[in-house]
Amino acid sequence: MFEMCEAIVMRTVDYGETNKIVTLFTREWGKVAAMARGAKKPSSRLSAVTQPLSYGHYVIRRSRGVGVLHQGELIDSMRALREDLFAAAYAAYIVELTDKSTEEQKRNPYLFELLLQTLQYMSEGRDLEILTFIYEMKMLAVLGIPPVLDRCARCGATEGHFSFSVKEAGFLCHRCEASDPHRFPLSPATARLLRLFFHMDLARLGSISVKESTKAELGAVLSAYYDEYAGLSLKTKRFLQQIGEWKDKLGLDGGKGTSFSL
Ligand SMILES: [Zn+2]
Repeated sequence: MFEMCEAIVMRTVDYGETNKIVTLFTREWGKVAAMARGAKKPSSRLSAVTQPLSYGHYVIRRSRGVGVLHQGELIDSMRALREDLFAAAYAAYIVELTDKSTEEQKRNPYLFELLLQTLQYMSEGRDLEILTFIYEMKMLAVLGIPPVLDRCARCGATEGHFSFSVKEAGFLCHRCEASDPHRFPLSPATARLLRLFFHMDLARLGSISVKESTKAELGAVLSAYYDEYAGLSLKTKRFLQQIGEWKDKLGLDGGKGTSFSL
């Protein structure tokens, strides 16, 4: 039985001379793999619709293993994400993060919407780093490792000056900070953004601007937290880190400036 779904192409691998196995993240069934016969041939009607990051409607015959992709129709090719080195690198990272964090055929319409919305904002030229931080924060809930952000993770206090402790998995108030010598100091802006990114509805983005020093704090906390608890080894993350180093050397800011609509 062929069924229609709405999906984003996460990745493809060549299979034989002319075929591709396509991994789709679908709104209806979560992640599914399907054989796209002939899709390696540029003349194939499946060629364009199976480019990574493509978003569209797909007709699939599902099975326990690899199903069959019968046809597809693009809603958005996300071409802007493939044509810009920075955008492509950030998009590849959030897609790989999603891929490694999800099981096949496990429906999660919330995560589908989150991924789609993030890729669309990225293709519109919004701040790639901030979108990635928001996605990483929200992914912590999906992974089942949410940090404590509304109180001190150790004593429960809601008042005070907070740092972030990976060991305690959340905020640490100034009274408890001695318990973790490796804690990350946080500016009040960073503490507020960590909370906001975790809870906000991504569809309702307004406008704020984020300083480079705040971005550096957010990046350090998130990297350390993922390293400790997520257990993921992502090659796209290493590539992003290299790009960050090139950007610093070349004095680039990623092309989009630091002012961000939130
Ligand atoms: Zn405390």
